[in-house]
Amino acid sequence: MRAVIVAVALCASTGSARADDAADIVAITQAVPHCEAKRAHCFGLRFHVARTETGAMVVEPAWIAAQLAMANRQFEPLDTSFQVAEVSFLPVDAARIDDRAERTSLATRMKGTVIDVFFTGYLVDVDKPETFAYGVTWHVGEDGRLIIISGMGRDRTLAHELGHFFGLPHSKYAVSIMNKAPRDDPPPEQRRFADPEIAKMKPVLARLVKSKVITELTPLP
Ligand SMILES: [Zn+2]
Repeated sequence: MRAVIVAVALCASTGSARADDAADIVAITQAVPHCEAKRAHCFGLRFHVARTETGAMVVEPAWIAAQLAMANRQFEPLDTSFQVAEVSFLPVDAARIDDRAERTSLATRMKGTVIDVFFTGYLVDVDKPETFAYGVTWHVGEDGRLIIISGMGRDRTLAHELGHFFGLPHSKYAVSIMNKAPRDDPPPEQRRFADPEIAKMKPVLARLVKSKVITELTPLP
């Protein structure tokens, strides 16, 4: 009798913890916007989503979709938009990224030609380990770069990190989403890349395409 009860309990617990990758891929790909056909450039994003101990994704599909929609809006002046090329999932230890070694270890999952974006639940700020970061663009090797986004990030975190991906440092332009200083003016909903930042990203974009770090895609219908 005792053995039966244990077996039932185990079954129930693994059943609730089993993640349904196929269903979650459908949920994400149906939620996210695609490249806008009128843009000159369409680049792919490979989403790697961490799971918690219960098997849940660290971020909801709608949250991911809002990040991508904001990125596509912010990159209009660069005549560029993004769409999801692939979705995969990370084991539970990636639900929290603690240090430089853990960031770098994600590079083994990169396969090139699209931008790898890793969603975690908690991203430690490696320069101030007692606190956290919203996101980071982490350089690996010669021209490799991967993006990590925390579920604690703000609505423009992916757009900000893509700014880093295309070569931008943090800036002091009041209007810029690359300016990390707290300020009221202009309000967050009016912030964008400053014009000199758009100009600065153009040659970096061209170089990354030429060196095949990223490949131009056809917009999905
Ligand atoms: Zn930054």
